[in-house]
Amino acid sequence: LLEMKNIKKSFGDTEVLKDISLTVDTGEVLGIIGPSGSGKSTLLRCATNLETPDSGEIRYAGTFGLVFQNFNLFPHYTVLKNIIDAPLKVQKRKKEEVVTEARKLLGKMGLEGREDAYPYQLSGGQQQRVSIARALAMNPDILFFDEPTSALDPELTGEILKVIKDLAAEHMTMVIVTHEMNFAKNVSDHIIFMDDGYIAEQGTPEEVFGSSNERMQEFLGKFG
Ligand code: ATP
Ligand code: MG
Repeated sequence: LLEMKNIKKSFGDTEVLKDISLTVDTGEVLGIIGPSGSGKSTLLRCATNLETPDSGEIRYAGTFGLVFQNFNLFPHYTVLKNIIDAPLKVQKRKKEEVVTEARKLLGKMGLEGREDAYPYQLSGGQQQRVSIARALAMNPDILFFDEPTSALDPELTGEILKVIKDLAAEHMTMVIVTHEMNFAKNVSDHIIFMDDGYIAEQGTPEEVFGSSNERMQEFLGKFG
């Protein structure tokens, strides 16, 4: 579904991605872990056309959705309007159909009855569930998450991780950058450990978390 080959990206003199190759198959969950500054967000931004790589190839069959750390909801739109805006404007779908589907998604996210609320009236966890509903409303073939819980309190983190786990159980194809190691281990089919712009380790969760790679061990040590 997604193939990245020999991707390189620099900002000025700093080479942030130094030859990244990866594939994500349909129905697969790829977890991306690694230290701050190792290039995880840049990798997602290249995969989703928010950045253009300096070299390499990205092959991609389908449409994607993106969920950010800080929710990125439109503050002056209601919950419902946040969700239906892109399907109406970008996909030019019928309003009735889009609204029906948005309400279904809100139900799935445990937000029934909140469609007229504004983002500021919701908790961080609720806002993040709206932003996941908004991404799903576009019927993406693949969903990218960049640290979806890092702006949330621990008790709200769990509810978002549960939503993502439910999506994985429905075989949604996902690429998830996360600092939640247990979650990454549980939800991912494959894991990439990024270090200093390289993929330093990759494989199944068992392989990656069991790896004797020094940088990987040092990184995991920080999570106790
Ligand atoms: P974190 O875990 O803190 O989110 P990350 O792994 O996502 O880190 P990136 O955000 O991809 O790391 O950043 C990798 C490096 O690229 C950093 O040194 C960062 O300063 C640099 N960088 C990222 N975006 C830009 C930009 N638009 N202009 C200049 N430098 C950038
Ligand atoms: Mg980042």
